[in-house]
Amino acid sequence: MHGNEPIHIERKARDAFAALLWQKLGMTNAQSSPQSLTDDQRWQIALAKDRRYDGAFVTGVHSTGIYCRPSCPARAPYRKNVRFYATSAEAEAAGLRACKRCSPNTQSAEEACVLAAISAIRSEGAKTLDQLADLTGYSSTHFQRLFKRTVGLSPAAFARALREERVRKALDGAMESGASVTDALYEAGYSAPSRFYDDTKGRLGMTASDWKNGGAGRTIHWSVIPTSVGDMLVAATEKGVCCLSFGEGEGELRARFPRAGLVKAGSDFGALFDQVIAAVEEPGGDVSAIPLDVKGTAFQQRVWDALREIPAGETCSYGEIAAALGNPKASRAVGGANGANNIAVLIPCHRVVQADGSLGGYAYGPAIKAELLRREGRE
Ligand SMILES: [Zn+2]
Repeated sequence: MHGNEPIHIERKARDAFAALLWQKLGMTNAQSSPQSLTDDQRWQIALAKDRRYDGAFVTGVHSTGIYCRPSCPARAPYRKNVRFYATSAEAEAAGLRACKRCSPNTQSAEEACVLAAISAIRSEGAKTLDQLADLTGYSSTHFQRLFKRTVGLSPAAFARALREERVRKALDGAMESGASVTDALYEAGYSAPSRFYDDTKGRLGMTASDWKNGGAGRTIHWSVIPTSVGDMLVAATEKGVCCLSFGEGEGELRARFPRAGLVKAGSDFGALFDQVIAAVEEPGGDVSAIPLDVKGTAFQQRVWDALREIPAGETCSYGEIAAALGNPKASRAVGGANGANNIAVLIPCHRVVQADGSLGGYAYGPAIKAELLRREGRE
């Protein structure tokens, strides 16, 4: 499943965090902390002269009595003469002097500039490249190059990685405490959840449009269509299907989207609704081409994305989906997201069954669930 991808932080970003955010910025992440680097890894970093680890440790050369930054341009010492120290102070306590070429005990102007920029990105004090460059006194082009060389990511990619890291932590916290995912997103520094959706757009496989305020300002075109499993309510915006349910009508649609404009669907929605009818009557076809306009939090969308990965004819348990999303303990949160799904069949929540294989519940009754699964070939 790719459902756990959207807020998975890139490895390159992790390296950047490891190098720069570790001590100076108070990020503690045991896995990416340079403190957890082995001496072999430090040696490889020193051989590569990887400047992203400058500040993370220093290389002491006991044959010459000096210590260096990992990126020091001087010739590599012999491994047997080298010992690593977490800080300049520790190296000096061991009797070593600072190298004059790489000045490991002073912060370079460039480092100070990058750290100031990171601090501004973290506090959202500067948002555009130009604002960041202004802050540091460099031209935008020079600043961008300097930042990328030091951190390994562009300022924009770094800001995104930082937000995603915060979201990942906040979502983990929300799953454990039962807090709202929207609150978690705000807490993580998204000024509005829609900004999170902007960042992740194109990775979720669904359009998450602005459904704030109960859908105020949106127009929903709807119809109740008789099918062989009962009356089906289908509703769509100009972006895609936003609701599919059984045994419901305008009243239930109104309850789901309290402030949206509701109009009876005209013939311009005929082709779309025909595709939806086919998904119910002749399941097993490719429904991924049917556009969806979902209303849900980032976490809910991850769950729905995961549901859409379950092939027709197969089923999953909440626990399996939670595990696929990288948090096996979150099966209750997955259940909540499943229940919040407005688009039955196309986001196939009916393919979630009990861990023991028994059918489990369904918002529109077990008979419809059983029939949908039977058609898909599940015995
Ligand atoms: Zn040096």
